[in-house]
Amino acid sequence: MRVNALSIDLEFWWCNEFLTDYLPCDREDGFRESLRPVFAVLDAFDVRATFFVLGAVAEQYPEVVSEIHRSGHEIACHAYSHRLLYTMNRDEFEDELKKSLELLADYNPIGFRAPSFSLNNRTKWAIDLLDKHGFKYDSSIFPVKNRLYGVPGAPVGIYRPSRDDISIHDPDGPIVEFPLSVLPFGMNIPISGGFYLRALPERFLAWSIGRVVTRRPANIYVHPHDIYPGPPPLKVPFISRLITYHGVRTSLEKLIMLVTRFSFMPMGALLDRMALLPRDELISAAPAIPREVVGRDNPAILPLSMSELLQQPIDAAARQYAGRGRKPISERGDSR
Ligand SMILES: [Zn+2]
Repeated sequence: MRVNALSIDLEFWWCNEFLTDYLPCDREDGFRESLRPVFAVLDAFDVRATFFVLGAVAEQYPEVVSEIHRSGHEIACHAYSHRLLYTMNRDEFEDELKKSLELLADYNPIGFRAPSFSLNNRTKWAIDLLDKHGFKYDSSIFPVKNRLYGVPGAPVGIYRPSRDDISIHDPDGPIVEFPLSVLPFGMNIPISGGFYLRALPERFLAWSIGRVVTRRPANIYVHPHDIYPGPPPLKVPFISRLITYHGVRTSLEKLIMLVTRFSFMPMGALLDRMALLPRDELISAAPAIPREVVGRDNPAILPLSMSELLQQPIDAAARQYAGRGRKPISERGDSR
């Protein structure tokens, strides 16, 4: 079985364009609490992932980012404020990048994800800036089209976007792109995380991601609030409510299904293993292989044990998976 990439967009629950106009002035971020379900799964099944960290999170919770890194996960960049690239000009985006890179300087991030996948041909200048600031790979392109994002017609597998048209592969392109996974089935069906993880039936997810991994590594993403039902439900229009809250209480079992059925590693390490990244000292920022979780002294993130996890109402189906171990990864990168 192929090894795939799992990533977590580390941001606040209000970094969601569908809530922007309805946010209360005084709001609790509940940030550490929101991380407990996702860490319970990563720890219980010994999975390492890439965390695309918002600069504002690194500024407010540096100890959390440090602990994530110490636990063997890759730290990558999710810009500073979660402003969409479409709403910025080139200089404003460069300021965001510089600010984030200062905050993440201890981790030498080599990967980037645009807030809400807002990289398309209108914002293709971002490719040059990512190259200029030392990034080696990007994971912002969703080969679909919806009202918020998408680059329809972009390759569904890993490629190098052309500076002139990011939906076209250019062997000399400066940045490796790992698009979010879609199932090509007449049209590209998004299946790779977030709302799609919450909304799609578990069996369809398992089947469709299984189809993808027969051809190429899958690229799966999760936000902490995709599986944590703690944020206050806001009064928002029906479509915003659906996209924001639907399926939060059943998504944890789907994440557990994914990490038990498929093998994952951090994105930088996976691209490195595929010999797609240039060889230089920056690559060492991404752990080459998944490694054991080290003990957490005075943890910044309260670990949630699997038994606690099982008591959570959001996790009825975890019992079904709790006895299964994670599939080991062989030398060749396949699962045994
Ligand atoms: Zn985000």
